[in-house]
Amino acid sequence: MEKLEIDFEKVNGLVPAIIQDVDTGAVLMLGYMNQEALDQTLETGKVTFYSRTKERLWTKGETSGNFLLLKSIKLDCDNDTLLVQAKPVGPVCHKGDDTCFEQENKSKTHFIDHLRGIIKDRKNNPNQQSYTASLFAKGINKIAQKVGEEAVEIVIEAKDDNKELFLGEAADLLFHYLVLLEAKGYELDEVMDVLINRHQK
Ligand code: AMP
Ligand code: ZN
Ligand code: ZN
Ligand code: ZN
Repeated sequence: MEKLEIDFEKVNGLVPAIIQDVDTGAVLMLGYMNQEALDQTLETGKVTFYSRTKERLWTKGETSGNFLLLKSIKLDCDNDTLLVQAKPVGPVCHKGDDTCFEQENKSKTHFIDHLRGIIKDRKNNPNQQSYTASLFAKGINKIAQKVGEEAVEIVIEAKDDNKELFLGEAADLLFHYLVLLEAKGYELDEVMDVLINRHQK
């Protein structure tokens, strides 16, 4: 991890740290870190705050066991806020929810980015037992053909009203579409650019 040049003077010694789930992108909680909490977080790999109520260092999970395992720390544009990406061991909120912002994290579409990361990994590491890796091994034409097949299957399910089957085919189509984009070497953002451009016209 690069050196974090936090402006501790500006934040009176306590820098706010937004905790984000590294896999889903959900905002989990917000805490404050002093230099010591930050050092301990980096040393132990377990997210540690300075608790303003406890008035001491507080390792999230120290009594519940629901630690936040550190994945990365990023500093914002003016060096006064941290974005901490972590893997939660269990529910983050002491009220038992996965996040302290249960209501604000309803959208799961960010999972697409996580999935794209996995797909990219399967392409770059072909020698593994994985359905996705086997798709890449078969080549672009075969993958494109799979997208066509899944498209036909969703057309068939669209005529019925079996929710489970329809959603299954919708998931298949989305997944294979993402695999095809990756096989072609294009980013989903490039597709978004096309849509955004059309929208602006
Ligand atoms: P824990 O760090 O999970 O072992 O929890 C210890 C104590 O810290 C709890 O009893 C709460 O008082 C507090 N706590 C835990 N998680 C949170 C959170 N997400 N936000 C605020 N306080 C928390
Ligand atoms: Zn800032
Ligand atoms: Zn909470
Ligand atoms: Zn299917």
